[in-house]
Amino acid sequence: MATKEFNSFQMAQRQFDHVADILDLDPGTRELLRQPLREYHVAIPVRMDDGRTRVFQGFRVQHNDARGPAKGGIRFHPQETVDTVRALAMWMTWKCAVVDIPLGGGKGGVICDPHHLSAREQEQICRGWVRQMAKNVGPLSDVPAPDVMTTPQHMLWMLDEFEAIHGAKYPGFITGKPVGMGGSLGRTEATGYGVVYTVREALRQMGLAPSSITASVQGFGNVAQYAIRLLQQLGGTVVCVSSWDQADQTSYAFKKADGIDIDALVGITDAFGGIDKACARDLGYEVLPGDDWITQEVDLLIPAALENQVRADNAGRIHPRVKLLAEGANGPTTPDADRVLAERQIFVVPDFLANAGGVTCSYFEQVQSNSNYYWEKDEVLNKLDTKMTSAFAAVSELARRQQLYMRDAAYVISISRVAKACHDRGWV
Ligand code: NAD
Repeated sequence: MATKEFNSFQMAQRQFDHVADILDLDPGTRELLRQPLREYHVAIPVRMDDGRTRVFQGFRVQHNDARGPAKGGIRFHPQETVDTVRALAMWMTWKCAVVDIPLGGGKGGVICDPHHLSAREQEQICRGWVRQMAKNVGPLSDVPAPDVMTTPQHMLWMLDEFEAIHGAKYPGFITGKPVGMGGSLGRTEATGYGVVYTVREALRQMGLAPSSITASVQGFGNVAQYAIRLLQQLGGTVVCVSSWDQADQTSYAFKKADGIDIDALVGITDAFGGIDKACARDLGYEVLPGDDWITQEVDLLIPAALENQVRADNAGRIHPRVKLLAEGANGPTTPDADRVLAERQIFVVPDFLANAGGVTCSYFEQVQSNSNYYWEKDEVLNKLDTKMTSAFAAVSELARRQQLYMRDAAYVISISRVAKACHDRGWV
């Protein structure tokens, strides 16, 4: 999460301004797109299990909906800030545009720590958030989804509250629902698999086989676990993962030189993606300081935890062997670190392209929910692969043709599409 000095929104705006210059965007469009269209700040009172009332602060930011309803997750995090939510909403706009799905960008959050909340208290936060937001979100205006520390169960509570308020069934209100309750098969895997579809394509361009590569991954939650699974299925070796240790309030990296055993590690991981370090030692893992995931002698790095993790102060510690960095997390790399990566010619698959598999599958879930007809898992994953592969091809082709850094090429495509929608609607 954001540290005191780091502000995700300022970083998102810096990235935007840089590409607005490349595109020579007119001042009106520039001003419109560098800030959210709308944002809501809500207070959510919850009667706690001990009888006291606590008031939680929640947010929803709708950055831009010129291409379709806003779309984006809701995070539960103790250090959530509105600027983080603004940045994430903005990145959602670019993410939906780069994979060319008819949605805009939104994001929400509640400042809370589910580690210290009972299931009932979490349910009350979910229902309270929807009660405050029910008039301003919905299947035709803004569709939430899970994100850090929110789950299909949270989505179902939110859906239930929304339907109770509006007096009808609206399965397309929210995505990431449990399968069988309006969820899509493949959604759990979608973000991690999507990261690896883009990795596979990047390796193809480099003339490398996935079976020949080694990787180190930051994080061991939903995105990281499914990225690792698919990478291993393609023959790749993952030698290091890291995770947050709630008891020690620090992160650790877990290393096994001949490759981690994903099922064994999942077996000693809590619901928040925290790996038990004593059990890991028993399984033969080296337990290292959390930052060591970045220094491993590997071909591929996948940051899949949080923003602001690859910075000017640690980008120099990336091993010379690293050729590719695929951003599973949102905003893991700062603009200063980007310069280091570009100088070292490390190929970057930028966050809003690499991790767009989640929202793409969420869009598939909306389509299925709105038509009340559900597809087989293979159909979902094949459609996902097609979308991710063609988005990657368009970005890498532009990067090659115009000699652009991959992040800039992805931004050029997204910002152009959103600017055109605003222009065509007559907004600017
Ligand atoms: P998650 O909550 O399932 O997992 C987060 C993981 O990061 C956990 O293993 C946690 O222990 C670890 N972590 C937290 N702080 C850490 C630190 N300082 N060092 C090392 N590890 C740390 O979350 P997720 O759904 O996997 O999301 C991860 C990232 O991917 C976030 O940036 C999120 O916004 C982004 N993302 C998620 C999705 C999705 O569909 N889940 C989609 C797009 C983007």
